[in-house]
Amino acid sequence: MPSCSVLVCGNRSNVINFKSSGVTYHRYPKCPKLKEKWMTATGRGDDWFPTHHSSICSTHFEEKDFQPAAKSRRLFATAVPTLKLRLVFDNSSTKSQEKISTKKTIIKHNNRKTIAEQCNDKIEKYRNAMKAQRLQIKRLQTMVRRYRKKVTSMKNILTALKNENVIGEDHLWLLESDNLNK
Ligand SMILES: [Zn+2]
Repeated sequence: MPSCSVLVCGNRSNVINFKSSGVTYHRYPKCPKLKEKWMTATGRGDDWFPTHHSSICSTHFEEKDFQPAAKSRRLFATAVPTLKLRLVFDNSSTKSQEKISTKKTIIKHNNRKTIAEQCNDKIEKYRNAMKAQRLQIKRLQTMVRRYRKKVTSMKNILTALKNENVIGEDHLWLLESDNLNK
């Protein structure tokens, strides 16, 4: 049961055939150069090779590619598929239109997924930044507490020295103002 090997097509002879849609299926040419052109037209990449049974459906050929006098639809020996090989070129049968829209939706979904993932990444980044800032705030608070303690103990020392008459009022005033400036 032939099916079309053009990646974006997917026509199968059990559904899309000459009887139902006038579509015929055509085996790959033997001439290596021409075969190469057909393979490129499938859009399947360099790793894909057609088998003896592989074929391309008639929707990818122009009317002039077909031998007019032939009883069955026969391609000219030099015919190369050129139509509807990429999604953007496709604008005919409803079947392939449906296919395109589902493909487009899939692409959209994929995009949405990546956008969501990007958002998650950003949220994670901000969360980490917040964590780091919180740590920094804690560190600064500890430093402030330590300095306050130092200031208090210095004041106590000064009071003690003053009480024991080791330093006079003038010196005390200088030291205190110096202390406050720090
Ligand atoms: Zn096809």
